[in-house]
Amino acid sequence: PNSDQQHQHDMENTFKRIMNDLAKENIISNLRNYTGRQRLSGTDGVHELGRHIAQQWRDHGLDKVEVTPYEVLLSYPNTTDPNKVQIVLDNGTAVFTSTFVEKPLDPDGNQTDIIPPYNSFAPAGIVQGDLVYVNYGQIEDFMFLKNNLSINFTNKIVIARYGKIFRGDKVLNAQRFNASGVILYSDPADVNINGTSDTYPHSWWMPDTGVQRGTVGGDGDYLTPFYPAREYAHRLAVDKSIINIKIPCHPIGYGDAIHFLRELGGHVAPDTWKGKLNITYMIGPGFINTTRKVKLTVNNYLKVVTVENIIGIIKGKVEPDRYVLLGNHHDAWVFGAIDPLSGTAALTEITRVMGEMIKSGIRPRRTIVFCTWGGEEVGLIGSTEWVEEYMKVLYERAVAYINVDYAVDYTDYLMAGTSPLLQDPLYQAAKIIPNPDPTSPYRTLYDIWNKTNPGNGTGEPSIYYSLGSGSDMAAFYERAGVPSIDMWYSYDFKKWNIISYPLYHSAYETFHMYTAFIDPSFNYTLTMARLWGVLSWKLADEFLLSFDVRRYAKAVADVINTFKIQYGTLWNEQSVNIAALDSASSNFTLAAHNFYDYVRTLDKNDSLAVRMVNDKMIQLERTFIDPEGVPGRPIYKHVMFAPSKFDSYTGSSFPGIVDTMFEIQHNNANSWELLKQQVYVVTYTIQSAANSLDPIG
Ligand code: GLU
Ligand code: CA
Ligand code: ZN
Ligand code: ZN
Repeated sequence: PNSDQQHQHDMENTFKRIMNDLAKENIISNLRNYTGRQRLSGTDGVHELGRHIAQQWRDHGLDKVEVTPYEVLLSYPNTTDPNKVQIVLDNGTAVFTSTFVEKPLDPDGNQTDIIPPYNSFAPAGIVQGDLVYVNYGQIEDFMFLKNNLSINFTNKIVIARYGKIFRGDKVLNAQRFNASGVILYSDPADVNINGTSDTYPHSWWMPDTGVQRGTVGGDGDYLTPFYPAREYAHRLAVDKSIINIKIPCHPIGYGDAIHFLRELGGHVAPDTWKGKLNITYMIGPGFINTTRKVKLTVNNYLKVVTVENIIGIIKGKVEPDRYVLLGNHHDAWVFGAIDPLSGTAALTEITRVMGEMIKSGIRPRRTIVFCTWGGEEVGLIGSTEWVEEYMKVLYERAVAYINVDYAVDYTDYLMAGTSPLLQDPLYQAAKIIPNPDPTSPYRTLYDIWNKTNPGNGTGEPSIYYSLGSGSDMAAFYERAGVPSIDMWYSYDFKKWNIISYPLYHSAYETFHMYTAFIDPSFNYTLTMARLWGVLSWKLADEFLLSFDVRRYAKAVADVINTFKIQYGTLWNEQSVNIAALDSASSNFTLAAHNFYDYVRTLDKNDSLAVRMVNDKMIQLERTFIDPEGVPGRPIYKHVMFAPSKFDSYTGSSFPGIVDTMFEIQHNNANSWELLKQQVYVVTYTIQSAANSLDPIG
């Protein structure tokens, strides 16, 4: 056989070895150790965990393991002067005060030093006033209240249920409408769907004592925008910083929330706004008894602390200057058994198996970089600062970034967001991995994925392209243009229409909880380790990268088609240059197909020719990066995929166009000039993508 065929064969053997060697027992013991105490950013617990992981990775024989520290601004609650939400009388007496800590419900969670629930980067402040229920706090909820019910939010405190969108966007919406404070709560409709009394510790449903913590801030360190927060950094003064959250905010559980919601008067909530508390959902403004007010006290404070990433390296044998990166975070809100340590436990087991591999003389063609980030929960800080520090190198050399935040939050099916370029490598890897359920007639992970979570009419498993933000792939994908994936095993979203598992970011995410209710067999956590390991090794070792550029052209054409359906008439009336946009897209499609055909005829043993096409495929993603960024949000550089302006968890496609059209259609904005300029930028970008695949260029 020629060397390419021989290599294929060797690689298949390596995949088998990775799958056989990854050991469940090690993942279990990693998870038990990692979840032993609170791992909140900036605390002793997270530093201890980082050093422990670094030592494990060194023991596993990686070529290099280093700790990258950043000094960044974080936000903490004052534990001696607690945050609280109260009902107060005219004379100032409080008749109800929200609880301070979550009551421990299992032996693993029974620890004393746990930082109580709070929303990081919510500023300190005391506000008092009438309450308004704003459903999920989405922009359309506020618009409904303002436009249909004429509610004026000035001096009002809003109460929003968690769910649907990133919590920070709820606070930004409240600010846009001039509210003075925000209470976030978990409604049983989103965390205890069937209203069972058998909540945790008897099931995975959230009890009334549970509270979702979480940041309401933005991405990266607030004092060092765009540049790394290293020791030599020049920091902005806090009062000159770009902190965008201006009003106090605090989270509570449904055991507390009911006290506020059941007293609301005013308008009756529309049916779709009703949660599952046993009350009549009202909107307000204010309580039935108008002498009673809500008082919100937030005593959070800011502090510069160290956030550390652990970076481990296996140096590539042939192309050490091409990097395949695997990433996950290791900071948690409390014990982090699901989020993120199920992923961290798997990542460390991959380092062990790959460490053994290099000891036995098998080394991948390209460099593999293992990353475990600090500061994710408080604004993707470790990964963002690292991407800022190594931006230039990543831009030239990064092949792909594969993120697994939590590995498993349930065992129904695989969820994956991916760059169009990585869709085929992901499918190919999933075809090699056995189905985690050995009793199923579906043999491979791909088969069961396609069965349980099929794409809409594609004949292939479901994936989504718009990665959005919400985990550590954001800076890689949307700022550095590194083709990225984010994946995990999850629950069936059609069965439970909720954006996160019920105990998300609560103190009840313990090892006990994970083994009792999430993945008792650990088959699914092991499967994620296998998929992550095999996919990374494949991308690091295959001669010709299995990227398919036609997927990108199709993704672009599909979005443009939906634009034409949604906006075509309006655009024609306004003489938007649709023809140029269409033409760029057809050019890209043609170039992608020609490129693909050329690659198929390529001599795979011609290493220079292979390197050339590989680089073109990697750099195709970078052609979507624009130094100007998307309008109003200069940190997001990817013209096609950025976090949505109204929900940073999800992505929008061509946000420069989508966001401008939103302003035009919903706020009657006179933004046609901006829209035309954005259509021009997108046309230029797509044409650049086409040019980059040109055989001569
Ligand atoms: N994953 C964290 C969360 O959802 C952080 C997300 C972010 O800061 O964008 O709360
Ligand atoms: Ca920075
Ligand atoms: Zn996470
Ligand atoms: Zn999280």
